[in-house]
Amino acid sequence: MEYISPLSLNIHFPKRLALMGSTGTIGTNALKIIQHSKNFFEVYALAGGKNIEKLAEQANEFEPKFLAIQFEEDIKNLKKLLKPHYKPEILSGKQGYSILSSLPDVDMVLSAQVGASGIDATISAVNAGKQVALANKESLVLAGSYIRQLAQQKNATIIPVDSEHYALFQCLTPHKNTEKNVKKLILTASGGPFHGKDKNFLENVQVEDALKHPNWKMGAKITIDSATLMNKGLEVIEACHLYGIPLQDIDVLVHQQSIVHSLVAWNDGSITAQLAVPDMKLPICAAFSFPKMLTQENNCLKDLDLTLQSLSFDRPNKKLFSCLELAYQAFKDNICIELNAANEIAVERFLQKNLSFLQIPMLISDMLNFAKGLNTINLSNCTKESALAIIYERDTLIREKAKKWNN
Ligand code: MN
Repeated sequence: MEYISPLSLNIHFPKRLALMGSTGTIGTNALKIIQHSKNFFEVYALAGGKNIEKLAEQANEFEPKFLAIQFEEDIKNLKKLLKPHYKPEILSGKQGYSILSSLPDVDMVLSAQVGASGIDATISAVNAGKQVALANKESLVLAGSYIRQLAQQKNATIIPVDSEHYALFQCLTPHKNTEKNVKKLILTASGGPFHGKDKNFLENVQVEDALKHPNWKMGAKITIDSATLMNKGLEVIEACHLYGIPLQDIDVLVHQQSIVHSLVAWNDGSITAQLAVPDMKLPICAAFSFPKMLTQENNCLKDLDLTLQSLSFDRPNKKLFSCLELAYQAFKDNICIELNAANEIAVERFLQKNLSFLQIPMLISDMLNFAKGLNTINLSNCTKESALAIIYERDTLIREKAKKWNN
């Protein structure tokens, strides 16, 4: 077991934070935690996308020195929504996101933008040697080996803000410097709204059904990924890169209650698990406050009452929810950029009612077959700029093809 990066020791409070993707679900939860623990954290920069009203509201409350949004033309309107005395520096686009996540005064960057668009912020933050609270799992899917290498070179620290990976982090950390060997990492999956359903049922599934996640309140993209099990596929790849565990040693179990967030099976036959109420504020708070552990007063979390429910575990139906297997396959074939691009377009088209639920894995599978004929991408020793250019070129190629895909 080898962590993605050394956990740096010169950590001081209050931490200055740059929140990338502040208007999304993770960003909003992050700000709730900060409201409860202002002695520990200072909001230094906020980056949103298109929702400038929400960003303005957040900015007026926390008054960060820097803001970034997706489109330059929105800067004028954003300024109009800010309080009169408050004059932050406002940047835009990929370049703006890169600058904010590498500001010299920032201690920690929360990378929580949606999908491949989060890669600029992640790579810039790692390149600047920051502590990175990583919610954008796609960054590791697209460029895990590169980010690992860069983090080691730049002494950046990556702490996962994903409930499963934080659970693994908590299970593994006490054994980091011992001889105890990991046999398997077991990621739990809630199974989404369609666990146990048959093919007939899935054929007629509507967008509205897929958006009803039983346990977690999340954005649309990740909610659909949960329903197809692609989210778990991306998380298997994420775990591989974070903990340096071979793919074949990572298993997935469906655990519908979402209480056990993941498990580590050791060579002596024992298993360590982490249990908690399903609430993203836990991993966010843990990453922000690392190596401290803030009290519940600071993270607004509830205690887990173990008497309330029983816990069950099932194997996933890999045949019906084939996205999970496609992710394993893409990792083996080194075509994860292509996997992610195909999935993002498939989900987008499903949300637009332009693709059926069962066509999502069909589209992805066809794109992966196409990708196998392309040259293999190797980012090692690339500069940050060239790595991003190579990733975006391949990403765009697959997106364009996936948009035109017809069954
Ligand atoms: Mn997760």
